Amino acid sequence: MRLASGAVVDVTLDGELIASVEAARSDTDKLLLPAYVDTHVHLDKALIRDELPEHDGTLSGAIGAIQARKRSYDVEDVRRRARAVIESGVLAGTTRFRSHVDVDTIGGLRPLQGVLAAAADCAGYAEIETVAFPQEGILRDPGALDLMRAAMEAGCDVVGGMPHWETSEADQREHVRLCFELAERFDADLDLHVDETDDGSIRTLEMVADAALERGYLGRVCVGHVCSLAAADETYAERVIAKCVEAGMTVVANPATNLVIQGRGDRGLIRRGLTRVAQLRAAGVNVCFGQDCVKDGFYPFGRGDMLEVALISAHAAHLATHDEIAFVLAAVTENPARAWNVGEPGIRPGARADLILLEAPSWEEALRLQVRPERVWFKGREVAGNRLLSWLG
Ligand SMILES: [Zn+2]
Repeated sequence: MRLASGAVVDVTLDGELIASVEAARSDTDKLLLPAYVDTHVHLDKALIRDELPEHDGTLSGAIGAIQARKRSYDVEDVRRRARAVIESGVLAGTTRFRSHVDVDTIGGLRPLQGVLAAAADCAGYAEIETVAFPQEGILRDPGALDLMRAAMEAGCDVVGGMPHWETSEADQREHVRLCFELAERFDADLDLHVDETDDGSIRTLEMVADAALERGYLGRVCVGHVCSLAAADETYAERVIAKCVEAGMTVVANPATNLVIQGRGDRGLIRRGLTRVAQLRAAGVNVCFGQDCVKDGFYPFGRGDMLEVALISAHAAHLATHDEIAFVLAAVTENPARAWNVGEPGIRPGARADLILLEAPSWEEALRLQVRPERVWFKGREVAGNRLLSWLG
């Protein structure tokens, strides 16, 4: 089989791990890739779109539109929908999902309980990490912090946050402080929704980077979206990106959702809501792409297919050279694995055998033609596959 690098190899497995990767003589048209990792998805609110009222298309419109539906969540309902997305994702070659889960006074802990139940259902073919996510704010939603603490006690892996959603700069700063305090208490990593707005004067990315540096939380903080960094001035952007590098932070851009939901107030030249992917990458920040939303109030499409996310992201972030297209693969495989701290990523001895085999001569062709995996392995065990029947003439 051929690796994305072009090397033709034989791979042997030993239990859950890759035992050896050795050069092979015979050429092949099968491509072996690490299974995809989706490091930013919302499994609890997936697939509810048909039950929601229409709204103005903005982030705040979406948050408001799902509240009534969230009030009616029960654990089985969340479990069924989350499981459907996980299964769709595994068939498309994704075996690891980091799911933000709403933790607030509307849904309580039901979203978490549903996603944890789905994670247990799917434990034979996918690994799910959960993030306690205060979708309605912490200071804006009194009671949310206690629920976040309860969520961590109930088995949540990572502390989430959304500081820009608070209504004043002081509250945003306090939100960040509370998130770090909670993470320290549970010795957990952080994964925050940061600056998902077009307003370039919002600066919670710097609050998060400063807190990570002050507290020595290095290599343990992930920030998602970071849209308004694109609209910020260069002096700020350069300063804050340097801090992100120093703190070993990961940035997860979610181009699919943000292309749809940002820039709604613009007329004429409409901003597309993407962070500074090229600049972050050039500075040495670990950059990933995530699905974010699957047919919910924020985004009408999505199916947990990271190859689709990769193609959308390549268009959105101007990634077109061979080197940039190779980066697109890393941004949905090795880079998110690195953010999770899940051991050696990639296809090498000692790495976990989460693999996909595709009928494609190269990664670029797999991306261009959106080739679904023929075979999917999770922890060394073959767990899924696809067969395509086509007909012409
Ligand atoms: Zn999100």
